[in-house]
Amino acid sequence: MKLATFILDGRERVGIVDVDAGRVHPLTAPGMLDVIATVGADMTLADRANESIALADVQLLAPIPRPARNIFCVGKNYRAHAMEFASSGYEAGSTKGSEVDPYPAVFTKPASTVVGPDAAVDLHPAVTAEVDYEGELAVIIGRGGRNIRRGDALAHVFGYTIVNDVTARDRQKNHKQWFLGKALDTFCPMGPWIVTADELDVANMDIETRVNDEVRQRANTRDLIFDVPSLIETMSAGLTLQPGDIIATGTPAGVGIGFNPPRFLRDGDVVSVAIAGIGVMTNTFRNNVSAV
Ligand code: MG
Repeated sequence: MKLATFILDGRERVGIVDVDAGRVHPLTAPGMLDVIATVGADMTLADRANESIALADVQLLAPIPRPARNIFCVGKNYRAHAMEFASSGYEAGSTKGSEVDPYPAVFTKPASTVVGPDAAVDLHPAVTAEVDYEGELAVIIGRGGRNIRRGDALAHVFGYTIVNDVTARDRQKNHKQWFLGKALDTFCPMGPWIVTADELDVANMDIETRVNDEVRQRANTRDLIFDVPSLIETMSAGLTLQPGDIIATGTPAGVGIGFNPPRFLRDGDVVSVAIAGIGVMTNTFRNNVSAV
């Protein structure tokens, strides 16, 4: 099942998307977090509101437009990306031979970074000249828990979506901790919807990022250094994961700083992130986006 959040007649709604028919069936639940917390993935047709809208007639928002807390993110979780990051000169404190870490690097993006799947992303030219893309699979937690074991982890997953972990590389490098470089307004496009976990094999999903139709990143989740069950086990150790928590699982090789010279995003660039079984999310990058 594909679940989207969208604007219909000026009001925020959630609904079930039928991609083939190009339609969305609004639900009575007030928001996606309510769907996740109270209804779960066992939703039936009876839960659908009695209407059907053309997808083309609604404005999609991020499936979780206002996360309850920061988005958990994993750095350096594809081997080839860990290598390109270390050799780019942008990784503070990197040392040759230790590009791949024995434990996952975990940081967060503030919830305020989230924008929708078609929203403009602000390049913030007064703050940074080095904006980069990171196409990623994101996990949506369904059932919360603490000290979740690897073998039980996937039972805690509600579904999956796509994020672009947009990064200001100069801020990421200069401040050592990654937070500021990852935290600028609009720097977490998310969508186009959540696909419930029952429909996907998270250990085998193709992911591809294009910039202006040029393929930059192409990988499969089987290449993750730390897979989704181990990430959930690690993050939930002594830290209660909550329904609706979002985990961005890391980006493959092919980011802008993987090129020499680096290829940063410019005004008008269009970045699309596609994950098989989920869909495609496309965002245009703009100088000084006024409405966010
Ligand atoms: Mg990332």
